[in-house]
Amino acid sequence: MDTMANLPVAVIGAGPVGLAAAAHLVQRGIRPLILERGESVGAALLEWGHVRVFSPWEYNIDTAARALLDRSGWTAPALRGLPTGGEIVRDYLAPLAALPAIAANLKLGAEVTAITRQGHDKVANEGRKDAPFVIHYRDAGGEHRVLARAVIDASGTWWRPNPIGVDGLPVPGEGAASARIAYGIPDVVGKARKDYAGKRVLVIGGGHSAINVALALMELQDAAPGTEIFWALRHGSVERLLGGGLNDQLPERGALGLAAKQAMADGRLNMLAPFAVNRIAMQGEGLAVDASLAGKPFSLAVDRIVVATGFRPDLSFLSEIRIALDPVVEAPPALAPLIDPNFHSCGTVPAHGIRELAHPEPGFTIVGSKSYGRAPTFLMATGYEQVRSVVADIAGDHAAAREVRLVLPETGVCSADVVTGPESAGCCGGPAPATVDACCVRDADAKASGASGCGCGTDAKARKAVAAGVDA
Ligand SMILES: Cc1cc2nc3c(=O)[nH]c(=O)nc-3n(C[C@H](O)[C@H](O)[C@H](O)COP(=O)(O)OP(=O)(O)OC[C@H]3O[C@@H](n4cnc5c(N)ncnc54)[C@H](O)[C@@H]3O)c2cc1C
Repeated sequence: MDTMANLPVAVIGAGPVGLAAAAHLVQRGIRPLILERGESVGAALLEWGHVRVFSPWEYNIDTAARALLDRSGWTAPALRGLPTGGEIVRDYLAPLAALPAIAANLKLGAEVTAITRQGHDKVANEGRKDAPFVIHYRDAGGEHRVLARAVIDASGTWWRPNPIGVDGLPVPGEGAASARIAYGIPDVVGKARKDYAGKRVLVIGGGHSAINVALALMELQDAAPGTEIFWALRHGSVERLLGGGLNDQLPERGALGLAAKQAMADGRLNMLAPFAVNRIAMQGEGLAVDASLAGKPFSLAVDRIVVATGFRPDLSFLSEIRIALDPVVEAPPALAPLIDPNFHSCGTVPAHGIRELAHPEPGFTIVGSKSYGRAPTFLMATGYEQVRSVVADIAGDHAAAREVRLVLPETGVCSADVVTGPESAGCCGGPAPATVDACCVRDADAKASGASGCGCGTDAKARKAVAAGVDA
């Protein structure tokens, strides 16, 4: 019979944060059981494998993982280099996953579908905290159940992209047109080139992912001049993106803003803002987009749409677990005020651990990008500190669990000596701002209006007022 102490700690997801959690467990002599739905570790990173991140290697490698790897004779990458998503998997996550202590406890192609407590539905109290967790997962062999003493959910948000609608819902026709719509950051100059070269492409979104796609399409245009780019911002203005967001968040700063402005003047880049899609219909080989532009009806015929409007957490398999989430951000209530995108848009969030991440269900935590809910500013380095603290708590080392060991440089983790081409735009945080105050437009706005900016606790009154749709 399994006693709680003999059971493994289940880690859901073998991304950078899930594997870091596994390394911390191994370091503390606790057996992990890592369940990954993809056929490779880092399955989500491989989806954006062509994108160069903005934080150098030194911030992308967890300390416990590094200690395990060093003992195996691994050669670390140059710490100031900026890897692509694919290189993070090849040079770091894959070697980590191949270590015997991890490989023996890793199941690939295993998708977690539900979690509960043995013999207890969500409502049952008696004996609850002493009951093991039961993890339901499916793989090529069918459906399985496995017991665990604790669960660390590091399943990320990649597979739950936000839909096109400005109201958070898919627009009519979006599902039927899905074969002509890409969510995230398709490799338009590489693997997916044939879908975009010489085509009319609508890019929706104003964040780092959208910037990345629009710039790659401009590169594609040089080789395939027939490519037409429509770049739609759902909120905000073109001036703001070009003058603030784009220049602030990419290394060549002014140069990129100027390149975009030139492309607009040449008619190669059509900016549409504020833009809201109402409906999409299949039209021959392409799509008819019925929208509103600056409040007026607007229609557009395109071949493809790229939706880069962020991600949200998959809470579907947590319905029998007692979780507490902020109603706005869908992050734990103690963490949400530090990352609420109404106030923050850069990665300099105070380090945090079990105290901020705990849920009403003892032994269950959400870590990594999923812990940020709908906030887009998660950084690997923050996730590594999360799992160090969470695993210390599971191991009963409560003093270590409550320490804060992460010290980030003042300019954030985006600082690097290497300045590369446009592909270095990541999806969150952005390359090093010149000063801490410059880290993001929204923070500057938030500070100007009297609320806290990056790295500060957000004024609770202001936050509640914004949530209620009134001025603080
Ligand atoms: C384009 C891009 C650039 C970025 N650049 C940076 C950067 O420069 N610096 C930085 O610090 N951060 C960056 N980030 C943010 C963040 O660090 C990454 O998204 C990182 O991958 C998050 O790690 P994670 O382990 O939390 O989640 P993920 O990497 O998403 O890993 C989650 C894993 O869980 C698996 N999974 C999902 N559901 C299930 C399930 N039900 N059952 C089993 N397995 C499941 C997934 O397949 C995946 O492998 C970037 C993100 C993007 C998208």
